[in-house]
Amino acid sequence: MDGHRIVPSARLAEVRYEIRGALALRARELEAQGRAILKLNIGNPARFGFRTPAHLAAAVAAHLADSEGYGHELGLEEAREAIAAQQRARGVAGIDVERVFVGNGVSELIDLSLRALLEPGDEVLLPSPDYPLWSAATILNGGRPRYYACPAARGHLPDADEIAALVTPRTRALVLINPNNPTGAVYPRALLQRIVEVAARHRLLLLGDEIYDGILYDGPAFAPLAPLAGELPCLSFGGLSKVHRACGYRVGWMTLSGSGARVAALHDALRLLAALRLCGNMPAQWAVRPALEGPDTIGALTAAGGRLHAARQAVLDGVAASRFLELVAPQGALYAFPSVRADALPAFDDGAFALRLLEEEGVLLVPGSSFNLAGSRHLRLTLLPQPHELAEVCVRIERVLARAADE
Ligand code: PLP
Repeated sequence: MDGHRIVPSARLAEVRYEIRGALALRARELEAQGRAILKLNIGNPARFGFRTPAHLAAAVAAHLADSEGYGHELGLEEAREAIAAQQRARGVAGIDVERVFVGNGVSELIDLSLRALLEPGDEVLLPSPDYPLWSAATILNGGRPRYYACPAARGHLPDADEIAALVTPRTRALVLINPNNPTGAVYPRALLQRIVEVAARHRLLLLGDEIYDGILYDGPAFAPLAPLAGELPCLSFGGLSKVHRACGYRVGWMTLSGSGARVAALHDALRLLAALRLCGNMPAQWAVRPALEGPDTIGALTAAGGRLHAARQAVLDGVAASRFLELVAPQGALYAFPSVRADALPAFDDGAFALRLLEEEGVLLVPGSSFNLAGSRHLRLTLLPQPHELAEVCVRIERVLARAADE
């Protein structure tokens, strides 16, 4: 039959999101065949028994009847007031409800921010490894990622001079993910200050993805980017998905800081794009004020004795017992990013290994190369399973590595 084929946009050719890619689809096939798969690929707390705090759920339920219509394009006023107050409490000057954008997760706002900014061929400085939506949204909006390294040998920290050396006349923006996914690094304040100076020198827009801002173990205190950026244009991102364990609510926010004159045109562009998608999911926005103004619910999970703390320890113990693995202890966020030592197993392909681990041991995780890390020997595990499950995962990883080493 002579049917016509629909050809999708060539823009997609370089776009990847392997966290939900071929490996995850293969895991679904195996599950359909009756195999039990331990899935450590997605940072989705609900899947692992973490509940959204009851006072958030109650606020949404109580306001369902108020949420039947479209809302303000920037977001629910009550939510934006709470977000603006959080920013002011962090020392960010000049943030009011007009500078706050609420969206369907940080994901939507990452795309919206880059859409507002980029011309074809513009360059965005991104960490390597990155959270791959940042690369995808850069490419989909006509931009080109330029990666600055955050190597394990440096505790997965970036270097301000290296970042500066990547700047070209086409560079428009600098993205920081702190606390970091996938590495778990938390950036010291002094380092952030030096990076802010690079942005100032080169007139870059700063973008701070701070969605894990409250998920901290034993690293430095979390230092938000916007107070350091001061008058410089800066977009800061936060949300309900991780710290408040409400991924499915799809609520994230973005605040625009910097002097009025410098950000006015960008503000107009962001408002227009926000209006084009009408508004964010209304019922769930009622959870924002209770989340930000109510009791802290994450500290008990990350402190000694808490489940995330124990999960992280289980991975640290598993790595300590391994002949092959090494790991920079995650200081924040929901992941561990161990790597396979070159002296223990010289020939190692992280993608091939992840597939083999899935087929042979029923464990789904994400190879480091999926985070735009060339030549990666890393694997990313979420810290969300129970500690004993993570201990078991480490045993299974070790078994496959040992088999590979014997071949
Ligand atoms: N940014 C980072 C670093 C993430 O890890 C994630 C999700 O895993 C997101 C943004 C997107 O979060 P959401 O769209 O659920 O707010």
